[in-house]
Amino acid sequence: LLPPLADEIEVSLFGPGYGEAVAVHLGSGDWLLVDSCLNDDRQPAALAYLKSMGIDPGQAVKLLVASHWHDDHVKGIADVFAASTSATFSCAWAMTQKEFLQIAHQYQASDNSVAGSRTTELVKIINLLEGRPPIKWTGADKVLLASSGRTPYQITSLSPSDLRAQLFLKEIAKLVPVPKETRRAAVDISPNHVASALWVSALGEDILLGSDLEEVADPNCGWSAIVSSTGRPAGKAGVFKVAHHGSLTGHNDDVWSKMLTAQPVAILTPFNKSGGLPRTADVQRILEKTPRGYATARPTSKAAVKRDKAVERMVDSVAISFQRAQPKCGHIQLRKRPGVDATWRVSLDGNACELKQLA
Ligand SMILES: [Zn+2]
Repeated sequence: LLPPLADEIEVSLFGPGYGEAVAVHLGSGDWLLVDSCLNDDRQPAALAYLKSMGIDPGQAVKLLVASHWHDDHVKGIADVFAASTSATFSCAWAMTQKEFLQIAHQYQASDNSVAGSRTTELVKIINLLEGRPPIKWTGADKVLLASSGRTPYQITSLSPSDLRAQLFLKEIAKLVPVPKETRRAAVDISPNHVASALWVSALGEDILLGSDLEEVADPNCGWSAIVSSTGRPAGKAGVFKVAHHGSLTGHNDDVWSKMLTAQPVAILTPFNKSGGLPRTADVQRILEKTPRGYATARPTSKAAVKRDKAVERMVDSVAISFQRAQPKCGHIQLRKRPGVDATWRVSLDGNACELKQLA
């Protein structure tokens, strides 16, 4: 495996079927990593990929972002941070009430019975911060990292909004008992509502990483707030990491018309748990926007896979014959040398496939 050239931008998406990690080459050997999942060898996929190209993560990784604390996005992220010794860590200041309480419990009693892996990863990261740059908090239209070197780049977070952070405080405030008053029910918001979407500008290219950010009824939150923001970076992205595994709740038509080029390269990871994403309707909706869609793996939900039994058997036997040679963890690699390549070059590895195959 050869690393990208100094003037070659790369977007790599990894996903074993449940899990997601992104690696972006920003130019001149500098990398951005977003989220983490484990590969077939139970190693953080993005980290193993950099090492396989002979890249030292301690030198190369400049920024590591935890887009939100869902298990399918943070597996092994503390190990990634430990290895990325010169990287700044970035995440949202606001979290959900559940995540906050898990940290509080760990602090108070070292009570492992309530600790989920996402807080374990967060606590490990906090303990690694000694001697490192302080956490760069994400938010609407916040520049997380910029370089004005030979190959300038800028990474901007687009969410969560200030209102979303305020709603987090409101949730926490509801936990404080008031005398002679029945405890008010806290609104259990989803971690997806505090997810950090990112805008990457490098070598003249723009990339939109949608995390798991979902649309909510409030126009001051979610994708609506991002689309209507006057403070977000100008330009249209030619690559879109589709939000929330392609779900309808992560979709906003204006994102496609106002923030993306015509027929961008759309990449996603499936969510092969509880119901499963994307569904057939989701795949079709994305393919109506662009023919250039790719997934790191096939969704396993019944709604998503409607194939002829005979075809299914044939595909299965092919998959089995490839099993030893090919890794299961899917990898979509996009590379482009601006000024040299007219379009993005796409390489698929493992279980990665074209979205067309899922329609
Ligand atoms: Zn997810």
